[in-house]
Amino acid sequence: MSAEKVMQRRIDDAGYWEYFDPSTGTWKSTHRRAAERKFGQLRDGFHVHHIDGDKTNNRHSNLVEVHPKVHRRLHTSPQACLRCGRDSHWAANCYATTFYDGTALVE
Ligand SMILES: [Zn+2]
Ligand SMILES: [Zn+2]
Repeated sequence: MSAEKVMQRRIDDAGYWEYFDPSTGTWKSTHRRAAERKFGQLRDGFHVHHIDGDKTNNRHSNLVEVHPKVHRRLHTSPQACLRCGRDSHWAANCYATTFYDGTALVE
C-alpha cells in the first residue's frame, strides 16, 4: 500500500472541478484555489472567471478575478472588459468609474 494521498476530484453541477479537502471534510472549488495561488487572497464576493470559457481549464493564465456583475456579463459577452463589463475596450485601457450598467465600480 502506498502512503501517497490521492486527491479526490469531481465536477460539480455547474461544470467546475472540485477537490475534497480532508482537513475540513468539504468539497472546494479547484479554480478558486488555483486563482488564490496566482492572485493571493481573493477579494470578498469576487468570482473567478475562465477566460477561454472552459470551466475545467484551471491554468493560471486562464483565470481572472472579476466582480460578480462583470462575471455574469462575460458569460453572455466574452469580449467584454474584465473590469467594467463594457464591450468598447480592454481592461488594460479601462478608465471607467462605473460598471456597464451605470452603478459605481467596485475594485
Ligand atoms: Zn466565468
Ligand atoms: Zn472597462
